[in-house]
Amino acid sequence: MERRKGRRLVVFPLPLQGHISPMLQLAGILHSKGFSITIIHTNFNSPNPSHYPNFTFHSIPDGLSESEIEASASDIVLLLKLLNAKCVEPFSDCLVKLLSDASEDPISCLISDAIFYFTRAVADTLKLPRIVLRTGGVSSFLAFAAFPLLRERGYLPIQDSQLEKPVEELPPLKVKDLPVINTDDPNAFYEVVAGLVNETKASSGVIWNSYEDLEHSALVTLRQEFPIPIFPIGPFHKYSSPSSSSSLLTQDQSSISWLDKQAPKSVIYASFGSIAGLNEAEFLEIAWGLANSKQPFLWVVRPGLVLRGSEWLEPLPSGFLETLNGRGHIIKWAPQQDVLAHPAVGAFWTHNGWNSTLESICEEVPMICMPCFSDQKVNSKYVSDVWKVGLQLESGVKREEIERTIRRLMVEKEGEDIRDRISELKEKANLCLQQGGTSRKSLDSLVTHISKLES
Ligand code: UDP
Repeated sequence: MERRKGRRLVVFPLPLQGHISPMLQLAGILHSKGFSITIIHTNFNSPNPSHYPNFTFHSIPDGLSESEIEASASDIVLLLKLLNAKCVEPFSDCLVKLLSDASEDPISCLISDAIFYFTRAVADTLKLPRIVLRTGGVSSFLAFAAFPLLRERGYLPIQDSQLEKPVEELPPLKVKDLPVINTDDPNAFYEVVAGLVNETKASSGVIWNSYEDLEHSALVTLRQEFPIPIFPIGPFHKYSSPSSSSSLLTQDQSSISWLDKQAPKSVIYASFGSIAGLNEAEFLEIAWGLANSKQPFLWVVRPGLVLRGSEWLEPLPSGFLETLNGRGHIIKWAPQQDVLAHPAVGAFWTHNGWNSTLESICEEVPMICMPCFSDQKVNSKYVSDVWKVGLQLESGVKREEIERTIRRLMVEKEGEDIRDRISELKEKANLCLQQGGTSRKSLDSLVTHISKLES
């Protein structure tokens, strides 16, 4: 098929909150560089097109049944595997239609989430260049890329007796920091990781929501191991003012009016993202740890956060909320970027999803790290041991440990040092985004790279 070269990008986000937001932010950044944007998205977790009048949206049937969606709520690997299998035909059909539509600008390339690894074969067949967006950090990606070696050398699958063993090939990680996911089908997990890594290697370039000064040494290694163009142009969300438009859940604005009444830097904001789950015992330890800390807290309890059984706050003992006397505010979903930017917030208790980690750094809010699975474990290790801008819960999710960690971070001298270091990291992010900064320059080379891609 012969086509004119164009300035239109076809963008394909993975339908999970932590992937949709950065992909739509990236689309906004590239739109401001003069590209027109066409988004292909699944019916499942569809973004709201009315929030993006500048983009064109095309929905594809993902073929997920109700029972598959239900089963994959507690097994993310199953969801990723199903999406990569079921989207092949509808995605391909949609792309063929877009490519043959003479009324629209010609398409320069596809920008796919790296976890949609099936898109490589489709793009090759249609002779369309394919760039990927990896929405996680570079350091965790290198750990995924090392999986074949880690399996060969016996680090994986993880054995409980080895958790504290250093992974010499990936310092400073220990076995317990490796980005694994609990799943009923470990082979499917290895397949997904292999798809992510191999089809990223086969792409025409990778875009990262990260910045040189944050992940410099990981980027050096990446450039050696992945001889393809690499574009660290983050943090994406700082290119424009915060926006709630990519949120799949309604953000409760009462968080902000409640924060307005609290003292500067006094509040612990606790939120564990859109996927992580807790058991009831952990949930109760968190509740008591927050209550006993004597600090005010804003806590996001997403419906479904407590695995198996409860709808929302039912596991809390009766009278728990009353004992707080207004010192705690519990909501279902927060306007997180606005919360982190609020002067009353003094610490972020997080699962260390990559977006949350970056958002915390950019607002210089020190972290309490409680990673649950996958790249969160690597991110958390970097936050506590490399950048030293947060503390891990050292002896697990226990109320006394929670109280102690909150005190270390919010009251003691240790916390002040952590605050100083996170301010420096935030400053570096600002510099990277300024004219002449590394992320801006990398964005310019991305734009040049796209315009040179030959289909
Ligand atoms: N988020 C939000 N409100 C909340 C909790 C999270 O808007 O109450 C947003 C948060 O700002 C981030 C995203 O959801 O951009 C979560 O992404 P992350 O990579 O941190 O974690 P994931 O949900 O993928 O585990």
